[in-house]
Amino acid sequence: MSEVNKKKITDTSRNGRVWIYPKLIKGKLYQYRNIVSYFLLALLFTGPFLKINGEQLILLNILERKFVLFGVVFMPQDFYLFALAILTFIVFIILFTAIFGRLWCGWACPQTIFMEMVFRKIEYWIEGDAQQQKKLDASPLNPDKIFKKGLKHFIFIVISFFIANIFLAYTIGSDALLQIIKDPVNQHIYGFLAICIFTAVFYLVFAKVRELVCTVICPYGRLQGVLLDRKTLVVAYDYLRGEPRGHISKSDESPKGDCVDCGLCVQVCPTGIDIRKGTQLECINCTLCIDACDMVMEKTHRPTRLIGFKSEEHIAEGKPFKFSKRIYAYSIILVILISTLSTLLIQRSDISATILRASGTLYQLRENGTVSNLYNAELINKTPEDMQFEIRVSDPQATIQYINKAEKVEKGGTVKLTFFIILPQKRVNKYKSGITLNILSKGKVISTAKTTFIAPPNL
Ligand code: SF4
Ligand code: SF4
Repeated sequence: MSEVNKKKITDTSRNGRVWIYPKLIKGKLYQYRNIVSYFLLALLFTGPFLKINGEQLILLNILERKFVLFGVVFMPQDFYLFALAILTFIVFIILFTAIFGRLWCGWACPQTIFMEMVFRKIEYWIEGDAQQQKKLDASPLNPDKIFKKGLKHFIFIVISFFIANIFLAYTIGSDALLQIIKDPVNQHIYGFLAICIFTAVFYLVFAKVRELVCTVICPYGRLQGVLLDRKTLVVAYDYLRGEPRGHISKSDESPKGDCVDCGLCVQVCPTGIDIRKGTQLECINCTLCIDACDMVMEKTHRPTRLIGFKSEEHIAEGKPFKFSKRIYAYSIILVILISTLSTLLIQRSDISATILRASGTLYQLRENGTVSNLYNAELINKTPEDMQFEIRVSDPQATIQYINKAEKVEKGGTVKLTFFIILPQKRVNKYKSGITLNILSKGKVISTAKTTFIAPPNL
């Protein structure tokens, strides 16, 4: 075991857990990650307040069973579409992982972005670099330690509070959140409690649990074993080039690889692993070790990318990256899912109509030679605008007599109607026949519903 690893393992300052103090280095990839992170953070924080057609960009309101993706509202009746969208996203993630490994984790996952680009930076700013943090943790309680720790945790709680608010904005809606903020606490006691609970959860995640979310808790991380193969591009150490590793020494002239065993790649790793031991589930592909090793290579006048974004096949056999059969198969599945989803979305009607014959009723023979059936209808407006509508039976001889009428359905709202459909009895030639109703708005058919009509046949 190298000295570096021995040193890390003895950093058991927190109840026996190996507490990780990653060393800060600012290489090129770190700078790119900074830019990506700021962009994603801006998107995350403004997302609930950006509206398309009056609807939030993304809303996942489980309580009210209302979901909005890019301004498109999905009601409970559209659950199959939402499920298909989620399935498509999962297949996309599987395909992306099969090609690029855990790149999402290191570069786009909110957990890593907040941990490494927000909370970790605050920690460096207040407590200093990795060595200073270790020293502070090991020191007895004194005014300096109380001040630094107090300030750090106070800022952590404030940021966790903001994250909790944003989380709620995505789950109950930004308008509902603003209402909770504006009104007295006693009017939204559950909303206030939710903010407090989420603040505590986020604080614990970023102040205490940290990398364990990625290495132990996250199910996506645990799936890497089945998603990665020899062709997947991952952050990897080129052992053919690096081994046998060894310090640069004038006295030792035995043949050596390019790895100078400086341990910097281990010291910067936020999950505390040594990438030279091969691909590991704990690696979140944050690429910090690439930056670290590149710096060492530049200093020692060797080619960079001893650690790089490479496939095992490329390292072992020098083969360039090529799509595997598995990637082609996932791509085909993804194309099929996207096509199906797009078709269903295009065909999706603005109004969802359910029209059923009233239960327990038969037909009614009327004195004027007509026969009627009683119906209950429920119309849901899936658009972001209030809508005027009318219902027409496709059979021109049929008429509608309303018991309970409505002509308007509010945006995202529901109306219930009760009515008779009346047909001349001589028109009926079988006991049970199908009947089609069109729902029109502004003279245009926007939805169609089918139901049945029963009557004694005119034999
Ligand atoms: S091994 Fe490298 S890429 Fe993987 S988590 Fe550690 S520093 Fe990041
Ligand atoms: S940073 Fe590079 S040279 Fe240093 S130990 Fe890691 S792989 Fe070897």
